[in-house]
Amino acid sequence: MADGTDSPNGEVTKPSPTLGIPKETAPGERRVALSPSAMPGLIKAGVRIVIETGAGAAAGFPDSAYLDRGAEIGGRRQAFDADIVAMVRVLGGDPTSPDLERLRFGQVLIGMAAPLAATELVTAISARGATLFSLELVPRITRAQAMDVLSSQANVAGYKAVILAAEALPKMFPLLTTAAGTIAPARVFVMGAGVAGLSAIATARRLGAVVEAYDVRSAVKEEVESLGARFVELPLETGQEGGGSGAYAQALSEETLRKQRELMAKTVAGSDVVITTAQVQGKRAPILLTAEMVAGMAPGSVIVDLAADQGGNCELTKPNRTVEVGGVRIIGAVNLPATIPFHASQTFGKNVANFVGLLIRDGALTVDLEDDVVRESMVCQDGEIVHQRVREAVGAPPAPAPEDAPEGIRR
Ligand code: NAD
Repeated sequence: MADGTDSPNGEVTKPSPTLGIPKETAPGERRVALSPSAMPGLIKAGVRIVIETGAGAAAGFPDSAYLDRGAEIGGRRQAFDADIVAMVRVLGGDPTSPDLERLRFGQVLIGMAAPLAATELVTAISARGATLFSLELVPRITRAQAMDVLSSQANVAGYKAVILAAEALPKMFPLLTTAAGTIAPARVFVMGAGVAGLSAIATARRLGAVVEAYDVRSAVKEEVESLGARFVELPLETGQEGGGSGAYAQALSEETLRKQRELMAKTVAGSDVVITTAQVQGKRAPILLTAEMVAGMAPGSVIVDLAADQGGNCELTKPNRTVEVGGVRIIGAVNLPATIPFHASQTFGKNVANFVGLLIRDGALTVDLEDDVVRESMVCQDGEIVHQRVREAVGAPPAPAPEDAPEGIRR
């Protein structure tokens, strides 16, 4: 951060906090962490924004669009000189990133760092003394919805999953009555009706499919039905019937999962498209589709497995690949939001702007650990990993209780 400067009348003016937006480096990543439309609130709050030249180009935002809204365009060094640096994929997920050298003590880094899995990256960032906020850790509470990148990006992924399925299916989605006969609507089954699932249901309905959905949290039945889909009722005790909308599910026992698969096999066999989105936070994705269930589907049917990156909901899924088994295509969908980078960046950027807004008080960068959204998403600070679950993931001993905690270890 630049030092305060003396104004002509002798007052010391506080330097504006700067937000740097570097170009993404993860392979295939076309999003950018801030879109021009997310800038006005930040500028109003007194933030100086420095965009690396070309950072938004792959998402459809030229440098000129940022300049028009009041950003400065610079090189990578200028973007990393900022007090706060935001990226979609923090340092491209690379623990040997040359950008590590650019980080400095006390600098704030915001973005998706996958901290429970990418432990080497987190350790390397912590060693530089930077303060990392991993947006995947933003709690799913009402106040934090505007910063929830998992939700904003899952919305995009649910939509794209249906588009991929429609493209791969040798049938049309809508019911059509033509002079050449009637075409029956496609039957789509969405397994897991969280954020991505609900977005998939809405998209498949818009394309005219007959849609069914299932979730272990039967509380989502109303939302499913309000989108025009049928909620599949299974005589299954999941113990989470009351889990409200937006809540995370608990893992089922292997025996309950087995029963679930058995009960769902008929619906799966009767579907042209199955879109799987089931996840239990912090766990491998539950297997909802076995090879046997896939064999029961008609040739030409399509499965889009959104949980491919978490191990897959289908046991035949290969991440980032499409495999065909018995004429059924199984699409192991990975990072779909990067394939719709304009709108994915627009919503991601709004999440980032809202999060940065939490860190700016009276025009100055202020990390307030009393704020639960700030505290719970903080991974490391002052050279220490402070997030309890991340400490466990990297094999560090638990942090001391808050009253005994030295400066910097507060959780
Ligand atoms: P979410 O937590 O909002 O929804 C997951 C849903 O799965 C919950 O409603 C939960 O109750 C349900 N569920 C859990 N176990 C189940 C089971 N046994 N049977 C039926 N339902 C079950 O999560 P989300 O944000 O919608 O994301 C869903 C998945 O999509 C995650 O795996 C996420 O990583 C993935 N995702 C993939 C991409 C991509 O590009 N491939 C992008 C975004 C999200």
